This record gives sequence, structure tokens and C-alpha cells, in this order.
Amino acid sequence: MVVAGGTGVLVELNRGLDVPALLDLSRVAELRESTTVDDGAAVRLGATTTYTDVLEHHAAALPGLAAAARTVASRQVRNRATLAGALVLGDPSGDALAALGAADATVEVAGPHGIRHVVASAFVTGPGACDLGPDELVTALIVPVADGPTAYAKAGARNAMARAVCAVAIELHPVARTATVCVVGAAPTAIRPGTAEALVADAWDELDDRVLRRFGALVAEAVDPLPDARGSSGYRRHAAGVLATRALDRAWDAL
Ligand SMILES: Cc1cc2nc3c(=O)[nH]c(=O)nc-3n(C[C@H](O)[C@H](O)[C@H](O)COP(=O)(O)OP(=O)(O)OC[C@H]3O[C@@H](n4cnc5c(N)ncnc54)[C@H](O)[C@@H]3O)c2cc1C
Repeated sequence: MVVAGGTGVLVELNRGLDVPALLDLSRVAELRESTTVDDGAAVRLGATTTYTDVLEHHAAALPGLAAAARTVASRQVRNRATLAGALVLGDPSGDALAALGAADATVEVAGPHGIRHVVASAFVTGPGACDLGPDELVTALIVPVADGPTAYAKAGARNAMARAVCAVAIELHPVARTATVCVVGAAPTAIRPGTAEALVADAWDELDDRVLRRFGALVAEAVDPLPDARGSSGYRRHAAGVLATRALDRAWDAL
């Protein structure tokens, strides 16, 4: 089994996971490299990029991802934990998943049959599951540079060291006059609420309280929450709507 930051693997080992060997990726120089690609339109983050790396080196180009990274765990965990590791753990409420989804990022996967790319919002296929074969590695995340305001709204059981019960990431694209939105914690996978995104495009010139409320309602309709100890499905659906309204309001104010 491969290990990057170890913050997920160690939890599993403590729970009794028995693996013959661990292969540490954290010192593979090529997996740590980040470069701009597509003539500066995107950043290719090597697979062992941590939340701290995002905050220290990519906050200007990727403000949505940085806002989500800022809410993750503690400084100690952010120093070790990688974004790719979070995706492979298959946490459908992951902060990185939300921000990568709203940024329209892709996951670069390499294996014996070559390299393929997966849309980040579709990479987690269910709780604890992802679109990665047993003989494949995530090698990079390709994240478009923000071309407008972004916002991240998260509800957790408390303000720090808490996974999201529900979270909404949004990026506005003023030139295209569109929004990309990703909701986590409100379905077994990340959700891109297409009807809510379309509403923003349609109402771009007249965004007011009525549109904000309608946007929240459309996001709440689009999700499919599973209940667990941290929140009932009703609570998560309600939270998705409230957080969506809040995130769009904040992003719109920054236009
Ligand atoms: C105390 C604590 C608090 C947390 N709080 C939050 C939070 O607020 N929000 C949030 O979203 N998450 C939170 N997390 C989860 C955290 O985001 C993940 O544990 C972390 O990102 C996993 O990354 P890692 O590098 O440590 O992965 P590892 O533990 O090294 O690996 C996790 C899994 O990914 C696999 N893997 C790792 N890298 C690759 C790769 N490149 N290719 C293929 N497979 C790979 C490993 O084999 C393993 O199966 C928290 C975790 C802890 C321990």
C-alpha cells in the first residue's frame, strides 16, 4: 500500500488494517512538483501537495482551494495531509473534493496502461470508494486558475478539527458569466447542482435576494443526503441550501 502524509493510513492501521508493506511517496521529488500548465490557465499540483503547500504557494492562483484548505483540521495535519490522499480515502464530505469540484479540476491517474484524467467531482464514487484501480497511482491534480471570485461555506460539528457535515464551494466566472458549484456532505458523492449553476448564468444581471434564495432551494433539491451520527438527511439538505445561499452571496459581493 502507498502512503503519502499518513494521516488516513495511520487511522486505518490503528483500526487493525494489515498490509504487508507501506511504500512512502512523500520523498518522490516528481510527485511534489507543481507547475503552471495550459499557458498559465491551470496549476498542476503534484500528488503529494499538502494543504499547507496550497496555503503557502497557491493561494493567489487557487483562492477557492486555499479557502477550503484553511478549514481542514489543524496546522499539524495540514502540514502532512495531501489533497490526493483525501480523494483516495473516498470521503464524500472532503473539503478538497468540494473546492476541486467547483474549480473544475481533474485528477491525473497513472497505471500500467498509461495516464488518464478523471473529473475531480466524479473521482469519489461513494463513501470510502474512488475511481482508482489497485495498480494505479494519483500523480497530479490539474486545477484551473480562478478567473473570478470564489467562496467556501462549511458547516461542521464545531469550528476547528471537524470534517464538514456539509460544505459548498463556488467559483464565479465573470467573463463567461457563469458559476461552478460543488456540494459535499450531502450525498454519497460530490454534487454539481446543474440547475443552480444555470440559474446564476440566467440571472447574472439581476442577482438579488430572490435569486439567492432560489439558488439555495435548487441546491437543496439537487442533493441526496445520507443520515449519520453527525447529521440527519433533513439537516444536511437544509444546511446545503443555507450554505449555498451564503457562498453565492459572498462570491457575488466580491465581484
Ligand atoms: C485529525 C484529522 C482531522 C481531519 N480533518 C479533516 C477536515 O477537516 N477536512 C477534510 O477534508 N479532511 C480531514 N481529515 C482527513 C484528511 O484530509 C486526510 O486524512 C488526508 O488528506 C489524507 O491524505 P494523506 O496524505 O495523509 O493520505 P495517506 O494517509 O497517506 O493515504 C490515504 C489513502 O490514500 C492512498 N494514497 C495516498 N496518496 C496516493 C496517491 N498519490 N495515489 C494513490 N493512492 C494514494 C493511500 O494508499 C491510502 O489509501 C482529517 C484527518 C485527521 C487525521
